Amino acid sequence: MKLLLATRSTHKAREVRRVLGGEGLEGCAIITLDDAGIPWTEAEEGLEPFDTFEENAASKARYFAGLSGLVTVSDDSGLEVDALDGRPGVRTKRFAPPGRHPGLARDDANNRYLVECLDGLPPSARDARYVCVACLLDPATGAVSSFRGESPGRILATARGTGGFGYDPLFFDPELDRSYAELTPVEKDARSHRGKAFRALAAALRNQL
Ligand code: IMP
Repeated sequence: MKLLLATRSTHKAREVRRVLGGEGLEGCAIITLDDAGIPWTEAEEGLEPFDTFEENAASKARYFAGLSGLVTVSDDSGLEVDALDGRPGVRTKRFAPPGRHPGLARDDANNRYLVECLDGLPPSARDARYVCVACLLDPATGAVSSFRGESPGRILATARGTGGFGYDPLFFDPELDRSYAELTPVEKDARSHRGKAFRALAAALRNQL
């Protein structure tokens, strides 16, 4: 069975492959959008307009399943910060206002903006969580299933570490006393929102094989 991994993020794709690779899905060949010959188009920019991770993940899965005819998995994820009333949430990818940090790449601008938003707050007021919703869509039946994973943490005032991607240098895991960018890939997968969501998806998929 071919399983289309509906993301343009090479970081997400690497993590999802790693997690699913350890989940006994030998009957599934995971293919990327590039493998499937689906080129990027402007339409993809409008796939995540909703207010929940579940709706956005389903929207992406529907779109790419429609193009490919394949069983499709998607990921919508982000950061919820308590001191920001749960923001940036579903807007995590586009958190920094355009033009606020000229010359910085998107991830760097987002991280800089997050540090600015929490400036002056003590560690006890910096609680946050990563959220990932993994979505599985079978175009044969139209059935959509969602699997949510959440990981608690705290937003650092200063970046730490070089691993991971996105907000990982600012996302501190109090139990391990390290940022996510200081974890090994195995450690991140074991604790991360994405690891939790995709292990649940894998369990559901195994029952269908
Ligand atoms: P989307 O799911 O494409 O809407 O975007 C997810 C946003 O959350 C991007 O800005 C990612 O960099 C960020 N994000 C999601 N998961 C992680 C993670 O595991 N580490 C760091 N940043 C993440």
